[in-house]
Amino acid sequence: MRVLLLYPRFPKSFWSFDKAMELVGRKAVLPPLGLITVAAILPDTWELKLVDLNVRPVEESEWDWAELVILSGMIVQKDDMMAQIQHAQRRGKPVAVGGPYPTSLPEELEEAGADFLVLDEGEITLPMFVEAIERGDTRGVFRATEKPAVTETPIPRYDLLELDAYDNMSVQFSRGCPFQCEFCDIIVLYGRKPRTKNPEQLLAELDTLYELGWRGSVFLVDDNFIGNKRNVKLLLRAIKPWMKEHQYPFHLSTEASVDLAQDAELMDLMADCNFNSVFLGIETPDADSLALTKKFQNTRDPLTEAVGAINAAGMRVMAGFIIGFDGEKPGAGDRIVEFVEQTAIPQAMVSMLQVLPNTALMERLKKEGRLLEQVSGVNQTTLMNFIPTRPIEDIANEYVDAFYQLYDPVRYQNRVYRHYISMSEPRHAVSKRGNVAWKDIRALLTIAWRQGVLRPTRWTFWRYLADVYFKKPRLVISYLATCALSEHFIEYREMVRHNIEAQLEAYLKAKSNLDESSEKPVPVSAGVNS
Ligand code: SF4
Repeated sequence: MRVLLLYPRFPKSFWSFDKAMELVGRKAVLPPLGLITVAAILPDTWELKLVDLNVRPVEESEWDWAELVILSGMIVQKDDMMAQIQHAQRRGKPVAVGGPYPTSLPEELEEAGADFLVLDEGEITLPMFVEAIERGDTRGVFRATEKPAVTETPIPRYDLLELDAYDNMSVQFSRGCPFQCEFCDIIVLYGRKPRTKNPEQLLAELDTLYELGWRGSVFLVDDNFIGNKRNVKLLLRAIKPWMKEHQYPFHLSTEASVDLAQDAELMDLMADCNFNSVFLGIETPDADSLALTKKFQNTRDPLTEAVGAINAAGMRVMAGFIIGFDGEKPGAGDRIVEFVEQTAIPQAMVSMLQVLPNTALMERLKKEGRLLEQVSGVNQTTLMNFIPTRPIEDIANEYVDAFYQLYDPVRYQNRVYRHYISMSEPRHAVSKRGNVAWKDIRALLTIAWRQGVLRPTRWTFWRYLADVYFKKPRLVISYLATCALSEHFIEYREMVRHNIEAQLEAYLKAKSNLDESSEKPVPVSAGVNS
């Protein structure tokens, strides 16, 4: 069987960092870890080709070669996934789909004409699919009620990737999270009992990356890396000597819940293993909203202190914020900006609350008759998909304003500087692959030209850079890379403003028409989000 594995394109988003990727000569931030794990589970006798459409288009010869097309992706990749299904159908190729988007909304993929729906977790459903293909079935839906142990998950096929196209490599240690945030679909997809790999499994994955020549950033994609603290500590105790023996070839980053700050031993182990950044779901500084959305773990200690403790342990903090919770008081956007400024978090991802499929929030809003439209295609440039408890125009305006303020070039530059100056330096320098490449030098010169010559913030750029260089020399490269992201955010905040304002106008117009005819509100975002 000749199989073409396709990873659909992402739209431009907060995380796509397009401009910054251009600067460092990379095509995408992260590789398709799910798809290369699928590749590792498929039979050895099947021939595989992988195309990440975020890196390059599919060649006509590759379409001709394929006997079967497999697509995997998230809700945010919906548009391109649909387009690729159509391309395959036009060429008469059977299509199988899997991953978080098809698992959450299988009816959309069935309607689009996918032949095989390989849903839930592939460790269970892929063997069922392979059996069906081998007995000649032409259609099928494969589901699992159980969650598999990930201790049997094979090493992802990193060898199928064009490694140089990516800024980070990724590995996964655990699936699932013990918490119960009302809006979260991770616990719906992967459960509330974190399942972890063995430390040896993860070391084998790091070995594979090392042998393939990868050096630099490795992202642990776990939605909550510290969901099972006991097992995470066992892992970190195994990674520590591995890193030393291999002369620190990687620096690591991940996502974790805020209670990380309460565990000094865990932070110390992470710093020892060369973790240099962590994403926290802070959501909001408003205690009432946190309680209402059942994010109780964020209400136990002051959030500002938590951010400070993680930063002081040597990890750059990135954080997610949400505006639009039920019962929220006016001024939520300003309170988020104030919190971000106070904690000097450089990358704060603010979004309007969106309902994701099958979540507790969706069930509640459905009962309350507050869902507005089909729940898919949501991102930072789409308006809320339910009726909030305060006027949507107030929330949307506060959101756009907060985004705009946070990514004002002067504010961003100041936050990056303050964050790095208060951060501990990494304990170990990361070893390089070969000599410094021309593209690295070109990237540094381009950042210096754009931010040190062209921008009105040029004088502070040089002053801050000199300060970081003398006070925190091991952080200089990371500091410059974070400064470079400003190129992306300046452009992205315009896109947020344009799209949200356009959707808001369409929504208000539709609402006033409906008010006259006293019907229910209708979908508003179709065709507006570019
Ligand atoms: S802590 Fe994060 S992953 Fe866990 S339930 Fe809450 S939002 Fe989901």
